[in-house]
Amino acid sequence: MSDFLIVGGGIIGLLLARELSSAGASVTVIERGECGKEASWAGGGIVSPLYPWRYTPAVTALASSAQKAYPELAMQLLEETGIDPELERTGLLMLDAPDSGTALEWAKGEGSAMHVLSEAAIVQREASLAAGYGEGLWMPEIANIRNPRLLKALLSSLQLQPRVRLLQHSTVSGFIQQTGQEGRAVAGVELLRNGHLERVLAEHVVVTAGAWTGDLLKSLPLDVAVQPVKGQMLLLKPAKRVISSIVLSNGRYLIPRRDGHLLIGSTLEYTGFDKSTSEEAGRSLYAAAIALVPELKKAPVIAHWAGLRPGAAQGIPYIGKLPGLRNLSVNAGQFRNGLVLAPASAGLHADLLLGRPPRVDPLPYQPV
Ligand SMILES: Cc1cc2nc3c(=O)[nH]c(=O)nc-3n(C[C@H](O)[C@H](O)[C@H](O)COP(=O)(O)OP(=O)(O)OC[C@H]3O[C@@H](n4cnc5c(N)ncnc54)[C@H](O)[C@@H]3O)c2cc1C
Repeated sequence: MSDFLIVGGGIIGLLLARELSSAGASVTVIERGECGKEASWAGGGIVSPLYPWRYTPAVTALASSAQKAYPELAMQLLEETGIDPELERTGLLMLDAPDSGTALEWAKGEGSAMHVLSEAAIVQREASLAAGYGEGLWMPEIANIRNPRLLKALLSSLQLQPRVRLLQHSTVSGFIQQTGQEGRAVAGVELLRNGHLERVLAEHVVVTAGAWTGDLLKSLPLDVAVQPVKGQMLLLKPAKRVISSIVLSNGRYLIPRRDGHLLIGSTLEYTGFDKSTSEEAGRSLYAAAIALVPELKKAPVIAHWAGLRPGAAQGIPYIGKLPGLRNLSVNAGQFRNGLVLAPASAGLHADLLLGRPPRVDPLPYQPV
C-alpha cells in the first residue's frame, strides 16, 4: 500500500509525485491513458499567464513562485534523464494592451520586468511583424517550455524512482469509502485495467484528473467546479525563424521553438468533453498568424490538435483537502495556466500533505 495514490498523470499529478517521492513517500500514479498526453501535452508552454496583470493575486502568487522554480527543475530533469525540456527565455511581446497603465503598475508591484515599446522598437525587435503596431508591452523575462518534452522528462525521471509506481492505461472508476473512529475516509480506488476491475489501496488519495476532476468526484458526492474548456493549436514549420519572442495580440499568440517550429494558439471553446478539431478554428488561427507575420503565408501547417483545459472560476485552482473525507484531496482547475502554475501548485500541495510550511498562502485555493 502506498502512502499516496494520485489519480491523473498530467503535469500536476506527475510533479506532485516527484515532490512527494523525493521527500521519501511512496506514491502510486494512476493514469487512464499514457501519462502527460492530455492538456499538458496539448498546451503551448508559455511560462506566464497571458496579460498577467488581469489575473487575481491568487494566480499571480503561484505563477511567480513557479517561474522562479522552472530553471532549476528543467536543469535537474535534463541531468536526470538526458531529455531537455527546452526552457527558452524568449520574452513576451504584447501588441494589444489598452490597459498598459495598470499593467506597468502591476509589474512594478511584482518586481517583474515590463517595458513599453514604441513602433520603432517593435520593428527593431521583431522585423517580420506586419507594419502598424504603434505600441507594445515587452516582458523580457518570460520563457516558454517545450511541454511535451517536459512531460517526457518528468515521466522518465519518475520511472527511475523506486518509490514511484506508475499504472498507465488504468481508469479510476470510483473510490473505496470507509467510516472509522476518525470519521469518513477513502481506503483507495477502484480501477479498470486490461478489462478487469481492481482495487488499489493507499493512505491518502489525491485527484489530479484535470478537466475530468469534477466528473470523477461527483460519485462521492462532491461538487468541485472544474469544467473542460477546449483549446485548439496549430504547428507551423517556416523555412526560417521569423520571430524570436512570444508574440501576443487579441488573445492569439505565436511561440517560437528552439528548432524553428512555430506554435499558434489558441481557441477557447465551451463544448464539453469533445476534443475534435475544426477547419474553422484552424483557418482562424492561421489567419491570426498571417495578420501578425505576413510571410507565414508560405509556411506549411505540420499539425493541428485540441486539448481540454481544466477550467475553474477565474483560473484559481483547487488545492487541498476535500471536505467530509479526511484523506482525500484535489489539485485541479489551473485552466489556461496549468503549465506555468504546476511547480508551485504541486509544491504547495506537497507542503500541505507532508506538514511542511506552505510556500504560498493556501487559503485562496482551499476546495469548498
Ligand atoms: C491549447 C492549449 C494551450 C495551453 N497553453 C498553455 C500555456 O501556454 N501555458 C500554460 O501554463 N498552460 C497552458 N494550457 C493549460 C495547461 O495545458 C493545463 O492547465 C494543464 O496541462 C493541466 O494539467 P493537468 O495535469 O491538471 O491536466 P491533464 O494534463 O489533462 O492531466 C489530467 C490527467 O488525468 C487523467 N485522467 C482523467 N480521468 C481519469 C481517471 N478516471 N482515471 C485515471 N486517469 C484519469 C487524464 O487522462 C489526464 O492524463 C493550455 C492548454 C491548452 C488545451
